[in-house]
Amino acid sequence: MAVSVQAERTDQAETERSGPAHRSRLDPWVEQYAARARGLTASQVRALFAVASRPEVVSLAGGMPYVAALPLDELADIAARVVRDRGAHALQYGSGQGDPDLREQILQVMQPAGIRAHSDDVVVTAGSQLALDLVVRIFCDPGDVVLVEAPTYVTALGVFASYQCQVVHVPMDDQGMVPGALSDAVAAVRASGRRPKLLYTIPSFHNPTGLTQGPARRAAVLELAQRHGLLVLEDDPYGLLGFDGSVPRALRADDPDGVVYLGTFSKTVAAGFRVGWATAPHGIRDKLVLAAETATLCPSNLTQLVLGEYLVTSPWYEQVKAYREVYRERRDALLDALAAYMPAGTTWTVPGGGFYSWLTLPDGLDATAMLPRAVADLVAYVPGTGFFADGQGASSLRLSYCFPPPDRIREGVRRLAGVVAAERDLLADLGAPAPLPARPTAAPSADQV
Ligand code: PMP
Repeated sequence: MAVSVQAERTDQAETERSGPAHRSRLDPWVEQYAARARGLTASQVRALFAVASRPEVVSLAGGMPYVAALPLDELADIAARVVRDRGAHALQYGSGQGDPDLREQILQVMQPAGIRAHSDDVVVTAGSQLALDLVVRIFCDPGDVVLVEAPTYVTALGVFASYQCQVVHVPMDDQGMVPGALSDAVAAVRASGRRPKLLYTIPSFHNPTGLTQGPARRAAVLELAQRHGLLVLEDDPYGLLGFDGSVPRALRADDPDGVVYLGTFSKTVAAGFRVGWATAPHGIRDKLVLAAETATLCPSNLTQLVLGEYLVTSPWYEQVKAYREVYRERRDALLDALAAYMPAGTTWTVPGGGFYSWLTLPDGLDATAMLPRAVADLVAYVPGTGFFADGQGASSLRLSYCFPPPDRIREGVRRLAGVVAAERDLLADLGAPAPLPARPTAAPSADQV
């Protein structure tokens, strides 16, 4: 059964549609938005994702962790215990930097990645997304250049846009960011009279490509960052989720003074806790805490205490291993189905961990243009342009295998392959493909995280 792909109405779409004849009471406020709010725009595909969340659609779009794999009864007992026994603390305001005990425990969570730090340098935030926002807030003025992988995490682009940064993409190969291309990008920015401020990178099981920088690649990237005085912002939500059980060594492990490391419990425990952190070079820690206090006063004591208790009383690393198995099985289902069903000319990455594979369509096909047809055929993905600030990525898309069970993944890929083949045949009937136009990108919806 096909679903109709009508855009669902949103207030914003409504406001945008209404011309001068339909001015509403909201319009004067819209005109008064700060310049930085211009970067906050709704994704063109947002309406489609409302349709894609229907149960009959196989969504390979959202990066939602499979939290049903958690020991939910045990977590319920812990939460009850924390409120009953330590409620006066758990339900009170807490430290702006985060609970001291949890900060100590975070040191242990970072150990497999080779990080040795002091808990004074850890700042707990409402998810690592907030830590990312705060680092950009304290370093970037409008127009400052941030270097990022091509493609990169869609909501990092949202942060950079909201602080009016200029994003410069550095090409990747199958080992991640290419050092020669990074040098070229720095030189080009310098030649234009500016200085790049930050190098934002996701070196392990990258979102959206699933690729990982090997040790030599990491050393080369760090060396270049040091040579050019670039502060590295290392985003590492997936580092513990490698399918061969090994944990890539963090950049931070080899340069504690030059790297802000972002970590999170979202993928290794549960995203709903909204507990992440930044481990910062000592000199910037105070500024980060001040920025965190202006944003949220303090992170939630309740979730920090429940999480802390879980880390102490449960074999949490065994749970991480269980997650690895769940995601490895799903990754295998995705790769097998892609190999079995996708038409010639389609390529995809082979992730060694994490949640995502990056698929490139046969020549001339456009992933955004194809999405309505895919959703009508009951499968969803995220089109590639959302992962670039400059309109690249039209022929690519991100597939997430983290949430649907293996048989749904196989069915989703089978449907998607049918759509790709149909689009390719249509293009062949129309003649040679025209070059794909660059498109402006917009902020993601929650389905795209
Ligand atoms: N960085 C990356 C690369 C991500 O994929 C995500 C979540 N999808 C985040 C940061 C934010 O995670 P959280 O705020 O849940 O810690």
